[in-house]
Amino acid sequence: MKSYTLLTNRFFLILFSVVVTFGLLFILYGVNQVQEQFEQKMLDITTSDIIAITKNTKESIQKDLGSSTNYPKRIKDDLNLQKTIDEKLSTLITNNIKYAYILYKDNNGVFRFLGDGASDNSKAFIDQKFDVESSKYLQVYEQKKPLLIQHDILQQLSITYLEPFIVNSEVQLILTIDFSITKTEQISQIITLVKQIIIFIICTIIAFGAILLIQSFRYSRIKKTAYTDKLTNVFNRNYLQEYQHTINLEEYILATLDIDHFKKINDTYGHSVGDEILKEIAKTIRLSTRANEDIVIRYGGEEFIILSKKQKGGFENGLDVINRIFKNIQKNKFLLKDGNYLYITVSIGVNTNPEHSINFLDAFKLADAALYNAKESGRNKIVIHTS
Ligand code: GH3
Ligand code: MG
Ligand code: MG
Repeated sequence: MKSYTLLTNRFFLILFSVVVTFGLLFILYGVNQVQEQFEQKMLDITTSDIIAITKNTKESIQKDLGSSTNYPKRIKDDLNLQKTIDEKLSTLITNNIKYAYILYKDNNGVFRFLGDGASDNSKAFIDQKFDVESSKYLQVYEQKKPLLIQHDILQQLSITYLEPFIVNSEVQLILTIDFSITKTEQISQIITLVKQIIIFIICTIIAFGAILLIQSFRYSRIKKTAYTDKLTNVFNRNYLQEYQHTINLEEYILATLDIDHFKKINDTYGHSVGDEILKEIAKTIRLSTRANEDIVIRYGGEEFIILSKKQKGGFENGLDVINRIFKNIQKNKFLLKDGNYLYITVSIGVNTNPEHSINFLDAFKLADAALYNAKESGRNKIVIHTS
């Protein structure tokens, strides 16, 4: 039916929104992962380059030190060598590499400078004490292996690299490099922007979905009100007009019901009593039908259409419902103000095979003709038209 299609469309739109939202959340997660991996990759490349350059410099300095077995003494004794070493260290200094220096450990376990690539004013002099936490340096002395120390500070990544000079399995000097790199800022900015856009789209979709959901509820409520008869709570004439073409006539038997001598009731007891009786009769009809299978429509003043579902190959169970309605109305008695009871009867016309008609209206006409026959032949009866 039309409103069902509309509601179904909305349902699929909402479902689609939910799926898209989850999809985007998944992409967001993916983007985050890529960003982290990208940063790690960039870091790995930069670090391995710097380590390679440092090793080259170390080898070059080692050549200058020649066959000496006491590097600290060799450097301290040769002013020219000191100059050469400082020059070589200074070539390492770049925007990223802030410090490059050589240390040794004296007999008291104190670390001292033997070379510094810094520019003149901040340069350390030979044997100047090196005041830092020395555990990492001691570690290099023990393990006789290079060491990479990483300090991660927000946008900057700072790394200290220690490269030992080893003679006869003894660490004699340590070449130290301090470098810091700014994290790939521009790429981070682009990725952050992409993330913000995705978050914005997700929020928009969520808002859109919420509006759609609210509208759907509102829409179905309005539809329900528009198609429901206020007095009796069954479907009204609007419903019939809107949906008569979508009703599958093969599935139902079609009955029309009219209250007998209702005019008289109105005239005798008043219109409001008439209304109460109408309500009661509609209630009896509803209670006698199957909520999810049969359709009850008040299409006129005191006239109802009942579409009762029948089983494939027979209309008996559809007819059972009509008989039940008829009997229950007969059984019903209405208490009047004066204490008397009023019994109401109805006449019913049934078309057992509406599918034999070309449309709903024609099928209805046959049921109505049967109803007319019921009235003509004395009322308070069911007349069945079979074709
Ligand atoms: P019949 O047995 O031939 O059906 O006789 P009848 O008096 O019921 O005749 P008919 O069906 O033509 O009468 C319809 C009457 O129903 C006319 C009108 O006064 C009354 N009626 C229609 N709508 C309403 C309503 O909403 N409330 C009340 N109280 N009466 C209504
Ligand atoms: Mg009537
Ligand atoms: Mg009537």
